Formats: sequence, C-alpha cells, structure tokens
Amino acid sequence: MSKDSCDGCGRTVTVSGGIANIWSFGTDAGTVGTAMTLELDDGTSHLLCYPCIEAIPDYPTAEDIERLERVDDETSRLGALSD
Ligand SMILES: [Zn+2]
Repeated sequence: MSKDSCDGCGRTVTVSGGIANIWSFGTDAGTVGTAMTLELDDGTSHLLCYPCIEAIPDYPTAEDIERLERVDDETSRLGALSD
C-alpha cells in the first residue's frame, strides 16, 4: 500500500498497486485500498478513489475525470465543464 492522491478529486488515497479496470472490482473493493488505477479507452490511466469511480459514467473520458470533485469523505461528483 502507498499513499497517493486521487486524479479526480485530489483526496488522499491508499493504493494496493496494479492496474484494474472498472469492470473487475466488486465485493472485495473495500479491502484493497481506497483507489484504483483506471485505464481509459484512449490509453491513459488515472488513479481514482472509489467515490470518483462511482461518480463517473460507464465509459469515462479524461474530460470526465477532470470534472470530478470531492463532495465529502465518501462522495464525489462530476462538476460543471470548465469551458
Ligand atoms: Zn476521487
């Protein structure tokens, strides 16, 4: 485990390491850290906390990740587009 920060909302997270995609985590999500590296269809990867992963669409884009913002300790949301 290592400490890092979420690429979406910026909160401090712990990471168990490795790359997984959004479809592969489930019942044990709470036991492997508080964030996951998500690979997008465009080939970029982003470290995201679970609240951000829940907030993004099924097929997120880098733009969606840039819009993520922290609401509280357990919640993130997609903010408004900046442009
Ligand atoms: Zn986040």
